[in-house]
Amino acid sequence: MTQSHGWAAQSAATPLAPFRFSRRDPRENDVVVDIQFCGVCHSDIHFVRNEWGNAVYPVVPGHEIIGRVSAVGSSVSKFKPGDLVGVGVIVDSCRQCPSCKAGDEQYCDVGATLTYGVADRYGDLTQGGYSSNIVVHQHFVHTVSSKLDPAGVAPLLCAGITTYSPLRHWQAGPNKKVGVVGLGGLGHMALKFAHSFGAHVVQFTTSESKVDDAKRLGADDVVISKDPAAMKKHAGSFDFILDTVSAPHDINPYLEALKRDATYAQVGLPDKPPIIHMGHLLFRRRSMSGSIIGGMAETQEMLDYCAEKNITADVEVIPIQQINEAFERVVGAQVKYRFVIDMASLNRA
Ligand code: NAP
Ligand code: ZN
Ligand code: ZN
Repeated sequence: MTQSHGWAAQSAATPLAPFRFSRRDPRENDVVVDIQFCGVCHSDIHFVRNEWGNAVYPVVPGHEIIGRVSAVGSSVSKFKPGDLVGVGVIVDSCRQCPSCKAGDEQYCDVGATLTYGVADRYGDLTQGGYSSNIVVHQHFVHTVSSKLDPAGVAPLLCAGITTYSPLRHWQAGPNKKVGVVGLGGLGHMALKFAHSFGAHVVQFTTSESKVDDAKRLGADDVVISKDPAAMKKHAGSFDFILDTVSAPHDINPYLEALKRDATYAQVGLPDKPPIIHMGHLLFRRRSMSGSIIGGMAETQEMLDYCAEKNITADVEVIPIQQINEAFERVVGAQVKYRFVIDMASLNRA
């Protein structure tokens, strides 16, 4: 077995704490990655605190992983020891079903294997990236350019692809008015991508303290969503709105902000469902949709796009010893804009 150490939660009510465990020895198609940085996604908090009701313990969270390959299985051709690589939210899928064959492994018809907190198809519990190393099938490992700051690249593996994919799918670009709801980890990446794709971008935020940052990150306009008059000014004008908010909130004013036939896509996953006034959908034939992460080829495309355009996340790098305080600051929407754990800190006392 491959020895690993990280930080785990033992229950919904206990803080993360040091944890030793083992991972499988690499199979022929596996890559062993020594983890350098791991981003802190709000999904880690939802899961660890069992807000979605599907938690399994002990759990080592973390699915925004950057590291160096330390060993490869006998059939691995894509990678060699020393390569800088990334691992995201899924580590396996059936690779046979129509979704997998279409390159949408995240929608695998028999269920993709999440990076942590689930039994994989061999019955082993997956454990994530707040740890020293990880063993992953090469299909779910991505090449990372060494041109970019690796700490800033880590959040691209979840926050990046989760916003890149729907913005591409709904064709955010020139002559499109695009809204981003929530300026957190996902929201700030959505803003950077929508701006980079050439769309007219409006950032919605509840935090007045983030207005200047939103403009710096590429917003053409910023709306304080708690102000009904400011919301009304945009009624019927958007081609697409992407909602990245982690907590229950009223989405009806955003539906009213869409044009006829436009789409409101949800990537945030609050623990309680919203109340929707159906009239907002019916009268202008508007759509409501959702999206999770992206396929493996699209994730590589996004990483290559970021290397070309010099796009990374705005990060605050922390040692693992500060993870429990970091969770509280994420819940309070007080991080600008993603915590990333420096895994070298694992070896400190
Ligand atoms: P985050 O960094 O905490 O950002 C969430 C933002 O939502 C906050 O910064 C805040 O922005 C806004 N917000 C928070 N509480 C709010 C409230 N009560 N009312 C209105 N706005 C509020 O979280 P994240 O890591 O970006 O993740 C966001 C959500 O996406 C989470 O639910 C996560 O589980 C989900 N997620 C989904 C996928 C997927 O594949 N679909 C992938 C990753 C994450 P302002 O301060 O600007 O208002
Ligand atoms: Zn995530
Ligand atoms: Zn499949």
